Amino acid sequence: MAFDYDLFVIGGGSGGVRAARIAAAEHGARVGLAEEYRMGGTCVIRGCVPKKLMVFASGFPGAVADARAYGWEARIGGFDWPAFRTRLDAELARLEGIYRANLLRAGVEVHDCRATLAGPHEVALADGRVVTAKHILIATGGSPVVPEKWRDVPGSLTSNDIFLMQDLPKSVLIVGGGYIASEFACIFNGLGVKTTQFYRGAQILRGFDDEARGHIAQEMIANGVDLHLETDLLEMEPRDGGTWVKSTTGHDGVYDAVVFATGRNPATKGLGLEELGLSLKPNGAIPVDSYSQTAIPSIYAVGDVTDRANLTPVAIREGHAFADTVFGGTPRHFDHGLIPTAIFTQPEYGTVGLTEEEGRAPGPVDVFSATFRPMHSLFAGRDNRAMMKLIVCGTTDKVLGCHIIADHAGEMIQLAAVAISMGATKAEFDKTLAVHPTMAEELVTMRSATRSHRD
Ligand code: NDP
Repeated sequence: MAFDYDLFVIGGGSGGVRAARIAAAEHGARVGLAEEYRMGGTCVIRGCVPKKLMVFASGFPGAVADARAYGWEARIGGFDWPAFRTRLDAELARLEGIYRANLLRAGVEVHDCRATLAGPHEVALADGRVVTAKHILIATGGSPVVPEKWRDVPGSLTSNDIFLMQDLPKSVLIVGGGYIASEFACIFNGLGVKTTQFYRGAQILRGFDDEARGHIAQEMIANGVDLHLETDLLEMEPRDGGTWVKSTTGHDGVYDAVVFATGRNPATKGLGLEELGLSLKPNGAIPVDSYSQTAIPSIYAVGDVTDRANLTPVAIREGHAFADTVFGGTPRHFDHGLIPTAIFTQPEYGTVGLTEEEGRAPGPVDVFSATFRPMHSLFAGRDNRAMMKLIVCGTTDKVLGCHIIADHAGEMIQLAAVAISMGATKAEFDKTLAVHPTMAEELVTMRSATRSHRD
């Protein structure tokens, strides 16, 4: 049977675009791609990129305060949100243009409309056409979820709305304790917005290293975030030009904005997958094997829509491996075993490998952990502390995990991840000469460990 395309990709985010480009440009496939909103997906349009630019913006008051301590006559004025947004919009449009240009240069046919599945080899486009493809890749990402109880209350925002706000709120309540909640709590706080965060559990950033979570929470509170743990929303209604909320712990107040950062679900609604007989996971995720293939052999899925590790670089690797496997004749899959990541809270957290808690499970680990006042902020009279931590296998001496909480931790963890993914031992870390004076030198100079294992 002759198909219109060798590959049709649904979704123009990081994973879909990488797969389309590699299949077309490197493996000569005839590729079509449909995107219903803006090219670039979550990462470029409403995630990593605009978030990181807001992180930069929110760091300036602290930098100016430090500048004064370093002898500069410096003062910072008010934050001009509309001016920032105008530049942000222009930057996102520029990146979106690059994504589109790269696809076109690779020979990919772009359809600016929604696409759904009409069969194992058929895709229905919103303009009424139905196209056929030998393989179909679903890369539709995810979208924020607001708990049902609060979904229809006016004034509830998600991370998608933040980048589109006309005005910066004077006060904000963030609900949630994951990546997005904690990052935005720090961003708003840095921008001078009175910031409150409710998290229903005992400590934010569930799943990360316990000591690191505690350290970040402490620093966030010291920086001014009004963090309420074991606290959830009880009541919420529009009042006094804002949103009045009452918490399960009795706290009440009116906020200009309430942001729900209560998780994201895979964007599979209405795609037609179940109609083709594909069962989805309870949150809508598409089950796939290690080659990103679904139970329908012609249909694959990569990125957040599969809910494996919801990170841009992971989606890119999954998309690339898919293209090489299906069109390049070199079957390979992305190994989800060792994923470095950074959380752009203030302080920033870079992490790779096992947490102390995970490391203890198979056997004894040596834990090297140090907190210290970094030179830069110590001189400026700030009290903040950096944290460096290595989790080392008690039998092989291999470094199993690294946790860094410090300015530029994301940059540092990238390099530690190279060593750890090569199987470096603690002895090899120690053999490496320190770069002085830096914060990262702590990683090669930590000597005293606590041996820890699960009872
Ligand atoms: P997460 O799943 O990380 O966090 C969701 C948070 O909301 C958790 O604290 C959860 O609590 C809480 N929550 C869930 N449901 C409710 C509810 N009904 N009521 C109250 N609280 C609730 O999701 P995020 O949206 O923060 O992030 C999604 C993914 O996006 C991340 O996992 C990450 O992969 C990616 N991401 C990566 C970033 C980066 O690389 N820097 C930045 C942002 C996102 P509990 O812990 O109790 O379940």
